[in-house]
Amino acid sequence: MEKKFKIGILALQGDYEKHYRIFDQLGTEVFYVKLPDEFNEIDGLVIPGGESPTMSRLINTYNLRETFEKLVEDNVPIFGTCAGAIMLAADVVDAPAGFSLGIMDIKIARNAYGRQRESFESEVEVTWKGKTRKIPGVFIRAPKILEMGEGVEVLGKLENGEPVLVRQGPFLAATFHPELTDDTTVQEIFLEIIGEYRK
Ligand code: GLN
Repeated sequence: MEKKFKIGILALQGDYEKHYRIFDQLGTEVFYVKLPDEFNEIDGLVIPGGESPTMSRLINTYNLRETFEKLVEDNVPIFGTCAGAIMLAADVVDAPAGFSLGIMDIKIARNAYGRQRESFESEVEVTWKGKTRKIPGVFIRAPKILEMGEGVEVLGKLENGEPVLVRQGPFLAATFHPELTDDTTVQEIFLEIIGEYRK
């Protein structure tokens, strides 16, 4: 990696520590962000998994709506996993108005795999820059991406074709938890996306 990127991990709630560790191992400068001022210097932001209603509430408590608007305006790459992917979506099924951040043109349903499959592991087929590989996917009360706008590209899917890793410009959403396995393919893709936007 040519440049040491500064990665902010949104540390309001959820499994943010695991994300920290992986980006640290990958040689980036990582820090937790929570207060609006702390977002000023970052090259990329991670929104971890957790509970989206709690995260949504805390985003309001910490007055972060405007901060997110600014990040989007500045094309700062954002990577959301699971609850983080829900926060990125423009449309969350059955959620009240203003629940998510509306950053990506996707429609997503929370807890969409039903009680029988609260958590499961499944291979994800990831295609990046013409190369396809299979990585392990851990899904925990995972959401499902139901619809996508034209600008959204599928980078990862399940065997049945369901999209589970999607990208729209600087924004990346995974319905699974790449931070829970040793495979760092998705994090490396995010770093490459940052490289495209932060020269
Ligand atoms: N079910 C959670 C939600 O709706 C997401 C679960 C997760 O992040 N692992 O927010």
